[in-house]
Amino acid sequence: MNKLENAVERILIPEDKIAARVKELGAQISKDYAGKNPIIVGMLRGAIIFYGDLLKNVKIPCTLDFMCLSSYNGTCSTGEVRFLLDLRGSIAGRHVIIVEDIVDTGLTLDYVLKNLSHRGAASVAVCTLLDKPSNRKTKVPVKYTGFEIENEFVIGYGLDCDELYRNLPYIGVYKNR
Ligand code: 5GP
Repeated sequence: MNKLENAVERILIPEDKIAARVKELGAQISKDYAGKNPIIVGMLRGAIIFYGDLLKNVKIPCTLDFMCLSSYNGTCSTGEVRFLLDLRGSIAGRHVIIVEDIVDTGLTLDYVLKNLSHRGAASVAVCTLLDKPSNRKTKVPVKYTGFEIENEFVIGYGLDCDELYRNLPYIGVYKNR
């Protein structure tokens, strides 16, 4: 049988560690944004599981919205960012939190932040589950980080390789066969 786990070289961050950190991030956001009714933007599709789990730990009123961009092909960044889905609502005068799966070169986030900067938000902050700072090509402001990781290609907990393995419950290093 073609098992999901066969694509994993080793587990990098197990489920319980992710859950504990996501709880902390949710608590911090709830504290920082109390009374601000933020718009929490899920970046499709990689952030989908993180986004759902994070929201369960955000204990203040908030609005949900989504964006979808693409820059990856397999395990390689194409360097070219494409907009596939834009926000449904206006962000004018609102506090926005962008929820990402991983910041790698920073090019995707840079593109998103530049695009949103013309829309009159009261503030825009970034919350990412994973950060690979060693691979950064452009400086991007990240307010909340789950885990910093080495420059390895990871899958699971929403992160894919060619649209597979998003449903692994943990973060694993991809086995490059
Ligand atoms: P950046 O523009 O910062 O280089 O890349 C951002 C996007 O690339 C992420 O949202 C994610 O979709 C993808 N990406 C970057 N590194 C990895 C990785 O290690 N694993 C997976 N599955 N996707 C990655």
